[in-house]
Amino acid sequence: MNKHYDYLIVGAGLYGAVFAYEAMANGKTCLVIDKRGHIGGNIYTENREGINVHIYGAHIFHTSDKKVWDYINRFAEFNNYVNSPVARYHDELYNLPFNMNTFHGLWGVKTPKEAKEKIKEQTDKLGITEPKNLEEQALSLVGEDIYKKLIKEYTEKQWGRDCKDLPSFIIKRLPLRFTYDNNYFNDPYQGIPKGGYTQIIEKMLDGADILVNTDYFDFIKKNDGIADKTVFTGMIDEFFGFKYGPLEYRSVRFETETLDEENYQGNAVVNYTSHEVDFTRIIEHKHFEFGKQPKTIISREYSQEWHNGIEPYYPLNDDKNSALYAKYKELADKEDKVIFGGRLGNYSYFDMDKVILAAFGAVRSEFSKTTAD
Ligand code: UDP
Repeated sequence: MNKHYDYLIVGAGLYGAVFAYEAMANGKTCLVIDKRGHIGGNIYTENREGINVHIYGAHIFHTSDKKVWDYINRFAEFNNYVNSPVARYHDELYNLPFNMNTFHGLWGVKTPKEAKEKIKEQTDKLGITEPKNLEEQALSLVGEDIYKKLIKEYTEKQWGRDCKDLPSFIIKRLPLRFTYDNNYFNDPYQGIPKGGYTQIIEKMLDGADILVNTDYFDFIKKNDGIADKTVFTGMIDEFFGFKYGPLEYRSVRFETETLDEENYQGNAVVNYTSHEVDFTRIIEHKHFEFGKQPKTIISREYSQEWHNGIEPYYPLNDDKNSALYAKYKELADKEDKVIFGGRLGNYSYFDMDKVILAAFGAVRSEFSKTTAD
């Protein structure tokens, strides 16, 4: 390739796409490359049987930031989907997040006062004042019953580690409330783009040159100097040749099936919170868009440790990995021609709105403001 670009953007996911869109709004040229055969990164959706399938796992857009909400709505119309997962523990079903419906199902309590008493009875017994890990954090928030039935085994499947060896912030993602409200998120803005996520990335990247099936490390050997700056959204440790050793990530394997029935589980997300089954959850894709198709598509999610050759999904932000990441971050800060972004580039458990905000941060330092300012 002999064209020269202002930016080489590595990874056609949400971070790279927001950056590219904003750079182009500032008259800059962008080449976007991705090692996969399509754009969209992990928010990529694909239409099968008229259903938009979340190929890399469920993505529900939610945010407290009106600016971010208005921004994403420029690229697609969003529906009024509200995430309300159901948890299945053996043959028992409970509503998530932890709310009055859950407490009623567990203990038969009917009022917030009764629920609080029940939880206090359990947490008082344990006497945890300063929770040091996920187990202590969960126990001190909700007590033993909820921990045992809805947290412990699910979390151990999801992270492949004992709850005592996991950071407590992970469990703080889940709301705990004393109202009959099954909305999984506390954010005021939430929804699913009608027609899927891929259109959003397509629109953001309109005007950029795009190369899929292109691995950065091979590409750059032959095209060094192709752009003034690089936006790198891959694994930060890989960028530096795993110099200090590899960071740990969790990966997910999906078993996706098309079923000749209209409605398999009656909900988009059912979490399987016991060790009895190996998968963590089943997603029924059509319910994200209230689909009425004659068939349905489900994905069973199996969590696994990341190793070379499979896709990394979740950074493992425990003490050991955070210390290792800090060393890579120090190297990254010295690279004045490379911007690191996204879940993998920043080794952060970002939701989509936080990805957009992080990209806005980079855009502001490059161009002083974003099109949302
Ligand atoms: N979690 C749990 N039980 C559940 C759902 C979640 O214990 O039924 C815990 C688990 O540790 C998980 C964390 O809460 O890793 C965050 O869950 P979330 O649904 O936010 O995870 P994501 O959708 O990002 O995979």
